[in-house]
Amino acid sequence: MTAACSRGLLAFAAIATLSTGCVTSVSPLIRPTISAKHMQQTVSFLATKEMRGRRVGSPENARAAEWIARQFSDLGLSPAVEGSFFHEFPYGRRKGRNVAGIVEATGVGGSGKVAEFVVVAAHLDGVGDAGDAHRPAADDNASGVAALIEIARAVVAMRSTLRRNVVFVAFDAEEVGLVGSTRFVLDEIIPSEDTRFTIVFDMIGGKFFPWQQKTGIAMGTEHSNYIRSTVERLRLNRATPIELLGTYVLEPAGPLLARSDYRAYRKAEIPYVFFSTGTPWYYHMAQDSIDRVDFQQSEEIATFALDLLLEIACNACEIDFIKRPKPGVLDLVQLHRILEELLQHQTEIQLPERKFTQIGKMKQALASSIANKKASRILAQRALMLIFEAAQHSEPKLARPSSPRARRWRCRRPASRSRVGFDRSCAQTDPPWRVRAYFPHCPPSLHPPCQWTACVETCRASLQYGFAHPCNRGKVFLQLDF
Ligand SMILES: [Zn+2]
Repeated sequence: MTAACSRGLLAFAAIATLSTGCVTSVSPLIRPTISAKHMQQTVSFLATKEMRGRRVGSPENARAAEWIARQFSDLGLSPAVEGSFFHEFPYGRRKGRNVAGIVEATGVGGSGKVAEFVVVAAHLDGVGDAGDAHRPAADDNASGVAALIEIARAVVAMRSTLRRNVVFVAFDAEEVGLVGSTRFVLDEIIPSEDTRFTIVFDMIGGKFFPWQQKTGIAMGTEHSNYIRSTVERLRLNRATPIELLGTYVLEPAGPLLARSDYRAYRKAEIPYVFFSTGTPWYYHMAQDSIDRVDFQQSEEIATFALDLLLEIACNACEIDFIKRPKPGVLDLVQLHRILEELLQHQTEIQLPERKFTQIGKMKQALASSIANKKASRILAQRALMLIFEAAQHSEPKLARPSSPRARRWRCRRPASRSRVGFDRSCAQTDPPWRVRAYFPHCPPSLHPPCQWTACVETCRASLQYGFAHPCNRGKVFLQLDF
């Protein structure tokens, strides 16, 4: 623990463990607690029918952004964007708006201006209602915004102990290709060279499987030894276990198709931890409603994130960044455990027998890799794809109507000509489906035109459009959205 940090904490009349080097622990006795009740109030507001799913560019999305800015202001955060809480950016013909506020560190004991930043983020936009179907986007990601606001409340109360400024940002336009976070970083609203660490929340109130106990997943620790060891230490004896997973496991189509707003920070070589509970069967559907959010779990994940944040923000330690981390055997151990669970709950998953044979074989392959201490990126990614598929079919009350067009999509997927990003089950809705194509060769300044969206009746049409895009030089990533 550094001396200055220690003095700051003593101001709170208590101090926790001392350790060698740069390690600090903030006692739960001295930091404000996260309130599940407050989190519930936030989700209740953001996920109401009147908010119409908070699609980027909609009046309801603007209302959500203004509401969050008001919360930041009431809590005592300073505006982060030249006297304003809003960072506007173009999105197609419309505008997107990030909301950003800062808790400024005064230096421990008011010792002067602090230059470094730590960022906490969650996206505020949702997929929007689909016609008459209300898609509340409660878990995705009102739950993350609730954590953001609660942590801001706690950090304001800890201001005098901070040695780094803490920035809170609710990103817009995540659902249309991580546009808000990309712009926020590219526009240098907070200087990247002074940003030391980022925490991102995206969906922390859900459950992958109905039988699952409360769990949080922390991804990204593979990019920093310091962050990994801090998370390992903090996660001991938690009521909600925090499991670690390499981010690459979620990215079978490569890092360009990252799953959330951590992408821009990773690209800027800023260490990050991405908290999520995964994409359950009701992901982007009308059933992503407040009654499915486990607020106890959300509270405990947010509490863990707060502890981690305070370790980094009350402490001016150097944090390393590993640009190309190697896949870890521990990832395979995690996946092996989940596959085992799937086989135990076979009767609760609506998948054909052959899938379970596949799951069994995958489990064996993982077991032999683990025994040989041989990590495998591809094996981990394939195992997760099986887990995703099982999660999509783990709700017995909602048997999926199988659309013939959905089958056609799968059959005609021309894997040799293009790489498909997330081929989610499209059987839940009728066509037209929204298809997105990503063009990896476009320079970032062209974003979002790099991303092309269209409503299509057939897959063939989408591919023709995709290949005609001027940005494309032969590689197309497609994402099926519903
Ligand atoms: Zn999300």
